[in-house]
Amino acid sequence: MSVLIKNGRIITASDDYIADIFIEGESISAIGKNLSMKADTEIDATGKLVFPGGIDPHVHLDMPFMGTFSSDSYETGTRAALYGGTTMVIDFVLQTQGKSLQHALTDWKSRSDNNCVGDYSFHMAVTDFNDETKKEIKHFIEQEGIVSFKTFMAYKGALMIDDRQMIGLMEEVKKCGGLINVHATNGDMIDYLVAKHRAEGKLSPLYHYLSQPEITEAEASERFVDMASYTGCPGYIVHLTCEGALNAVRNATKRNQKMFVETCIQYLVLDASLYEKDFEGAKWVMSPPLREKKDQATLWAGINQGLVQVVATDHCPFKWEQKLMGKNDFSKIPNGHPAIENRMELLYSEGVVKEKITLNKYVEVTSTNAAKIFGMYPRKGTLAPGSDADIVIFDPNEKHVLSAATHHMNVDYSGYEGREVTGKVKTVLLRGKVVVDDNKCLVEKGYGQFIKRRKVSQII
Ligand SMILES: [Zn+2]
Repeated sequence: MSVLIKNGRIITASDDYIADIFIEGESISAIGKNLSMKADTEIDATGKLVFPGGIDPHVHLDMPFMGTFSSDSYETGTRAALYGGTTMVIDFVLQTQGKSLQHALTDWKSRSDNNCVGDYSFHMAVTDFNDETKKEIKHFIEQEGIVSFKTFMAYKGALMIDDRQMIGLMEEVKKCGGLINVHATNGDMIDYLVAKHRAEGKLSPLYHYLSQPEITEAEASERFVDMASYTGCPGYIVHLTCEGALNAVRNATKRNQKMFVETCIQYLVLDASLYEKDFEGAKWVMSPPLREKKDQATLWAGINQGLVQVVATDHCPFKWEQKLMGKNDFSKIPNGHPAIENRMELLYSEGVVKEKITLNKYVEVTSTNAAKIFGMYPRKGTLAPGSDADIVIFDPNEKHVLSAATHHMNVDYSGYEGREVTGKVKTVLLRGKVVVDDNKCLVEKGYGQFIKRRKVSQII
């Protein structure tokens, strides 16, 4: 099978030019002006932007959490991602404390294998680092192609590891050529505030927000950065939301340390005033919570300063019925919000159209940097001969309204209901195949492949 995309405006992290792309099989074979090859399929991209397929390195599909499962399966979640221009996601396998990493991977594969529509990989969350799990790290990096290990500094008793385990894990991961991802918030401090608010009868979603003040994230981010500095292990802070936490990273650069930072689309475009809507605020109960306008300004600046490399989603949807588990107690509301389908269009509309970021920066933070940091570049994350033909053809002018009535995520509300965006994903290719065209998905579950990743070294 061959495809020729004609006259698109090709945008990568570094380039911006009009040309044709010729695809043979699963990868790009040539890019140039007026290509004359005969193709099985020809697509006219005149007037359209052509980006590398989006990579969302932070999603939770079909994940057991707080007594339920996130509502998007691997099928519905990766399909919705494709509709929104994201051709690959990285999901999280969670170790059960007391059991092996391999045990968790087998469990996760039982839900993901042959069920993905788009490409995917896993981060391995280490929730119990001991002599046995230590022996598994090398195997995961070298045999499973899973090179990033997630840690939680919060959720004590379920997911959290202490600093002793963190240091040990960092030393092992560094030795084997991997990377540590971290949920950096101070779990003990948050647990104290949650208990205090509940004891005082303060039970609405607003108190979810007030139980995780900025300092809980700033403190843990700084501690994580210090431990990474001490061990020399590459680190990546997931879903960083606020000024205090970003300043911890900024300070680290003064001692010549590099730390990778991800934020999520919701922290750039939504703020904590949504928690004042009584129980409706449950739609945005996530950890960390939405922050203030000043934090949004910090994050946009951080992107432009190169301190924030990735805009992800932390997509973790729960239906309204599931959110109602916390109707009378904010601490029982399943944490998470749906965005896997909206990220690319929202960031384009809020970032590029409103001139907060350039087109090249847009591509950098939606695909290229994630591919580099997580060991997939240049197979993924760019448009070049030899790269996988993961391509988004995007109309920069088409306006449309985001709504649960039209989205493809398996959740009955939208965190962005009624919001008009400028720019629309029109056609998506994944490994050379047209997978979305004109609001229709053309492939079935099983098309998405597990992508093995390389050891992490000399990143970016
Ligand atoms: Zn997450």
